[in-house]
Amino acid sequence: MVPMYSNPINAISQLKNNIAYLLGIRAPWEVSDVTIAHEEREAWIHVSYEDGHQLPCPECGSPSPGYDRRPRQWRHLDLCGYRTMVVALLPRVACSEHGVRTVSVPWAEPMSRFTAEFEALVIDWLQEASISAVSRLMKVSWNAIDGIMQRAVQRGLTRREESDVAHIGVDETSFRKRHTNVTIVSDAKAGTVLHVGEDRKKETLSQWYAGLTLEQLEGIESVSMDM
Ligand SMILES: [Zn+2]
Repeated sequence: MVPMYSNPINAISQLKNNIAYLLGIRAPWEVSDVTIAHEEREAWIHVSYEDGHQLPCPECGSPSPGYDRRPRQWRHLDLCGYRTMVVALLPRVACSEHGVRTVSVPWAEPMSRFTAEFEALVIDWLQEASISAVSRLMKVSWNAIDGIMQRAVQRGLTRREESDVAHIGVDETSFRKRHTNVTIVSDAKAGTVLHVGEDRKKETLSQWYAGLTLEQLEGIESVSMDM
């Protein structure tokens, strides 16, 4: 059944709560406003931080006093075909040990200009299409896609330390502007990117092998490449 709201105030607060839920925004963060520009086909999700909370230092996690707030924005998955951005005044804390640091947010990785959901979609597409195709389709620059891939690689590396990968996929994609091929080594089962190399498949693969332990090498059961 489609939920209905008789009271417009309730409807707006429900909408904000639903968007917060979809974004993975939890207290003390909250969606404070949603603005839409129909002409530009853009939606802006304004996220704010409730005052009166001590914020954890991103380095050591110790509660630290607020220092200042700086405007930041992240590209999110399109909402009904509208280019959607999450915007916030992101607090910086003054940690007694680590100095002034920008706090972490639950919807994006540090330094990323994209939400985690958006990055996940880009990574999904990279399993199916070339970097240039993904760049065109998502209207994001090649460098930005590259950054998303590198972060995925880092995540893959972190994960790989915990669990070994048995089935490897190797794909080569080209990017015309750069006159170079990019080879992506991925965990065929999980679909996660493990390594990105800027040369041919063979070189990239041996480069990646070189970083593995003997145990991890022995754990590999299959390597698939599209020729
Ligand atoms: Zn600290």
